[in-house]
Amino acid sequence: MSSLDEHRREVVERLARLDDELAALRTARASDPADDEHDPEGSTLSSDWSRLTGLRADAVVQLELADAALASEADGTYGVCVTCGRQIPPERLAVRPAARQCVACANRG
Ligand SMILES: [Zn+2]
Repeated sequence: MSSLDEHRREVVERLARLDDELAALRTARASDPADDEHDPEGSTLSSDWSRLTGLRADAVVQLELADAALASEADGTYGVCVTCGRQIPPERLAVRPAARQCVACANRG
């Protein structure tokens, strides 16, 4: 299994875990229809909710990147910067297996 497959599996697992937490939170909110504005418990649920949905959005992006990287691995362009066409350094790919840009291009935005 390549590090990319492993990376994707981790992202999928993270996403599943976040979905579980969000589902549990949704249940907690439904069983306690308190006023979010004035109930400290309610506002804790709200901030948990926005933290988890933020993390989930991140994970969805990571998953898309991992899928794109796997596709590029299949067509032989994996590890090549999509912007400048140079090879992405292996140490960067080790840290971010789904990176599609070299550091210079990623920093340029
Ligand atoms: Zn580049």
